[in-house]
Amino acid sequence: MNIQNIYCVGRNYHLHAEELGNELPTSPLVFTKPTHALTAMKQTNISIPYDQGEVHYELELVLRIGEGYKSGMTAEEAVDAITLGLDLTLRDVQEKLKAKGLPWLPSKGFKQSAGLGEWLPFPGTEEINLARFELKRNGQSAQIGYPKDMIFQLDELVTFIDTHYGLGTGDIIFTGTPAGVAQLHSGDELQAYWNEQMLGACKIM
Ligand code: ZN
Repeated sequence: MNIQNIYCVGRNYHLHAEELGNELPTSPLVFTKPTHALTAMKQTNISIPYDQGEVHYELELVLRIGEGYKSGMTAEEAVDAITLGLDLTLRDVQEKLKAKGLPWLPSKGFKQSAGLGEWLPFPGTEEINLARFELKRNGQSAQIGYPKDMIFQLDELVTFIDTHYGLGTGDIIFTGTPAGVAQLHSGDELQAYWNEQMLGACKIM
């Protein structure tokens, strides 16, 4: 399935909002990335910019909207596949943009800033709420997330995005990152685990 719109949710985990000193949102904070940001995490080399300050990793649960989507569907009806994704972020650039009230595109939309693991069939919201995901960097645990901790859950995200921006088959939603974000360095090897299953791996160039 061709990926259409790439929606991303910011500040959807309490501890991550806190670690960056952000207030908790009262409705989903949604931004987008260009499709040119997409890259597969299949033992791939990912090139990041080094001339604009720190680049941070953010590992996130990603939802895909399936065939036959109709406005008003629940997440259970709408989502046909999930994976883990890397929302790479130029953090220093983002801080400057936030301070000036400017759009986040320069910090979130660079090429290869949206890495995607292997898609799994949607296991249902119940199973997602029992799941755990983890980012390992150079063999060490860097981030651990539990989808049940999301401030806005799957149904709320699907409904909110559909209502305000539109949602369709092939759209994907990065659902936000848990705490533990940090700067990437050249040579870092990243692995993304859904429970015990590795869905993606890449090396930072
Ligand atoms: Zn993110």
